[in-house]
Amino acid sequence: MRIDVHTHIWNDQFDRLDQFIGSLDELAIDRACVLPIAPYMRNEDMADLVERSNGRIVGWASVLPFAETTGIPRVDPVEDLRHAIEDLGLKGLKLHPLIQGFALNDPGLVPVVSAAGELGVPVLFHTGPANGRAGRMENARIELLDDLAIMCPNTIMIAGHASPLGPASYLARKHPNVYLETSITWARWCKLMPGLASMVTEHAGADKILYGTDFSIGRDERVTGLNAVLEELDPADLEKISGQNAARILNL
Ligand SMILES: [Zn+2]
Repeated sequence: MRIDVHTHIWNDQFDRLDQFIGSLDELAIDRACVLPIAPYMRNEDMADLVERSNGRIVGWASVLPFAETTGIPRVDPVEDLRHAIEDLGLKGLKLHPLIQGFALNDPGLVPVVSAAGELGVPVLFHTGPANGRAGRMENARIELLDDLAIMCPNTIMIAGHASPLGPASYLARKHPNVYLETSITWARWCKLMPGLASMVTEHAGADKILYGTDFSIGRDERVTGLNAVLEELDPADLEKISGQNAARILNL
């Protein structure tokens, strides 16, 4: 069972769900976690995609933790999350420090991140730089999750795009509640450095790494590029990374 914990269907692609699922078939992905970013996608729309996907999409929620930094009215993020998980059946929470305007170690995150733990769902954070112009790179430094992991010890948090070149594996070793997700950075750096994927997997622990690609329609190379660098891994470790770990933390 291959589970991709980081994919996107953008608002203007809702009517291309068949194409998205066709790509999953071609790329041998059994289930795709589709990640929204509030306020640019509604949790109700995500629930609708899940409903239409024949079990292929694992829908995630997004809420806006700090409305004052974006100028867009919000509802209380804890209430918003509770509704998304308990009423809409979504399975995780995506938060983006650059687009949503906060630092990864802002204590103001504690109520909503702790609520995710109480609701039994993981939180995936964008970490590291991004191509867009939004936000301060400083706010998305993966080291900042060190603080948040201590502030919210009962919430599983996933470092998105966790670079194999940085301190990510130390974070995963240090904190039982921190996991690493592979999209973009692993394909880029491990391709240049054979042996890197195996070394980081051994250091972080194969139980703490999640297969994620940042796939969206037309971006097949993000999947094939990652698959190529993961081939060097021990087969049992690859099984964990490709799906077993995600199935465990998402209760699939
Ligand atoms: Zn993404």
